[in-house]
Amino acid sequence: MTLLINADRLRADFEALSQIGATGDGGVDRPCWSPAHLEAQRWWLGRAAEAGLAPHTDPAGNVSAVWPSAQPGARTLLVGSHTDSVPRGGRFDGALGVLAALEAARSLREAGLSLPVHIEVIDFADEEGTLLGLLGSKALAGTLTAAALAAPRGGRPALEAGMARAGVAEAGLLAARRDPAGLAGYLELHIEQGPTLMRNAIPIGVVQGIVGIRSLRLTYHGQANHAGTTPMDQRLDASLGAAAFTLTARELVLRDFPGCTLNIGHVRLAPGAFNIIPGTAELGVEFRAPDLGRLDDLQSVLLGLADVVGRQFGLTPQAEALAGDCAPTPLGARAIAALTAAADSLALRHTTLFSGAGHDAMSLAPLTEAGMVFIPSRAGVSHAPQEFSEWEDCVNGANVLLRAALALASAP
Ligand SMILES: [Zn+2]
Repeated sequence: MTLLINADRLRADFEALSQIGATGDGGVDRPCWSPAHLEAQRWWLGRAAEAGLAPHTDPAGNVSAVWPSAQPGARTLLVGSHTDSVPRGGRFDGALGVLAALEAARSLREAGLSLPVHIEVIDFADEEGTLLGLLGSKALAGTLTAAALAAPRGGRPALEAGMARAGVAEAGLLAARRDPAGLAGYLELHIEQGPTLMRNAIPIGVVQGIVGIRSLRLTYHGQANHAGTTPMDQRLDASLGAAAFTLTARELVLRDFPGCTLNIGHVRLAPGAFNIIPGTAELGVEFRAPDLGRLDDLQSVLLGLADVVGRQFGLTPQAEALAGDCAPTPLGARAIAALTAAADSLALRHTTLFSGAGHDAMSLAPLTEAGMVFIPSRAGVSHAPQEFSEWEDCVNGANVLLRAALALASAP
């Protein structure tokens, strides 16, 4: 069967949704549960209703449109993404995935198919983490805790204000868990947000998993002293530890840890004056790896390096692992196979890759067969108004999503 989405209809939807919260420079500003985000949800649910899908909102503020199966006891195949954006973000991140899922559901329905699973197009709340991060998908997975809600990364007042606007209650967030036995899988189309597909001119990336993330606070202790009277060869200058660690860690990751990343996004020297040799240097170190083995290896290499650099400059290193790390999340083998076969059926070149960014699939993969397909991002730019993907790539991705959804729905 030559089943394809209606590309014109998808494009019209995409252009219309891009107007909601538009920033005038090609981007959108739709932080979770802002008026623009709520308007975007209402708008696409209206489009879904026009297509005969049933709107549904869960107690966590996730909004869905369902095409029910006639089969008794049918499970649910979730297909979707998110319509919230980072502040002043791009048009494609999330929105494309929701609209492609809607288009896939419409196309399957119009093809006159009768599927043994419900197809649920879902728009997850707060994927971007303006409030808490993966809020809706964690609630659905039952992994959201009262402690997390008490100290959300966007601050408690912002969460409370958003909940009030969206009509979401804390009790609802904590009671939105779905029974995994009722789920047949989760599929998502997303822009890559990195340069790999575009650089290699490959239209489809089948995601193998989402990288794990850990953070360390590394502090070098030296000796604050007079910047003019202390000879250069007699200083215990903590800034040298910070500098040497930063440069050498980069070399080590490039040389020994392909597929891994390291970021030192925060450095603080104290006392922090022009005329005082820094007595302490504090570094915020974050690193990511596709699997637990490499994550552990990278951590021990970084800790070993911290000691070596400390000895080199006469400094005492102190490393503290920070809470909130994310385990690497492998995606489902059947979902990966379905997406790969879908790309093959469309004669689209494809490659495998790992996602260096977090996604709702991280919440769902432990519960159900979760899969993601990426399309190229121009210059790897995202979370910015310049975020762009060629329309042809968007359509290709939507067709892969459609066919993989059909495959998973047909053999749940
Ligand atoms: Zn996204």
